Amino acid sequence: MLVLPAAAVGFTAFMAWAVRGRSSAVFGPSIWRGPGNRRAVALTFDDGPSEATPEILDILARHNASATFFVCGANVERLPEVARAIAAAGHEIGNHSHTHPYFFLRSPRAIEADLRRAQETIQAHTGVRPVWFRAPYGVRWFGLRAAQKRLQLTGVMWTAIGYDWSSGAEEVVARMAAKAENGAILCLHDGRELRARPDVRETVAAVRRLVPLLLDQGYKFETVSRLLCPKN
Ligand SMILES: [Zn+2]
Repeated sequence: MLVLPAAAVGFTAFMAWAVRGRSSAVFGPSIWRGPGNRRAVALTFDDGPSEATPEILDILARHNASATFFVCGANVERLPEVARAIAAAGHEIGNHSHTHPYFFLRSPRAIEADLRRAQETIQAHTGVRPVWFRAPYGVRWFGLRAAQKRLQLTGVMWTAIGYDWSSGAEEVVARMAAKAENGAILCLHDGRELRARPDVRETVAAVRRLVPLLLDQGYKFETVSRLLCPKN
């Protein structure tokens, strides 16, 4: 829904929101939270798979928690067995582009080519064809709507983001716990863009504490698909 006092905010502010705002669907269908009628959240991870992803899979398995991993195609090519382990554990895999570019000022053709390459790479290595897409840096741009439509992808932003690439585990846990609510989509990172062997120790430590904390508060951890379509 595009409802805002456009005349009041001005074009620049409008564009800033359109490109980066979590609730913007200006450049293509996008959701940023699930329904609020069930005590469930979707934990999501961007920028993987990485060498640290198996550690996160272990934590999730220990708590019987589901999650969604928005992977980069190039990282799947680097660590295909980790990508397969994500799918084999019953988690959902989403598309987070192939090369993690800024879409800002990119051509519609380049945007679609990158998304398509990710889609094909993910499918080739895991057998999964994603239905959800998370834009790198949360940046959407012209051409994305058509690309999403042709690739049958719906955008997923977040209710709360952990800033786990620059925060300590304690801070990440506090931030996410404070913003957890029914239907929340929580965004963390099991990789750092396309880096090999990224240092995601603070993220792993945060997951280790956040999952039991939210379970104790009665939340269920669901994939994005399950959160949005509980009957499926
Ligand atoms: Zn990312």
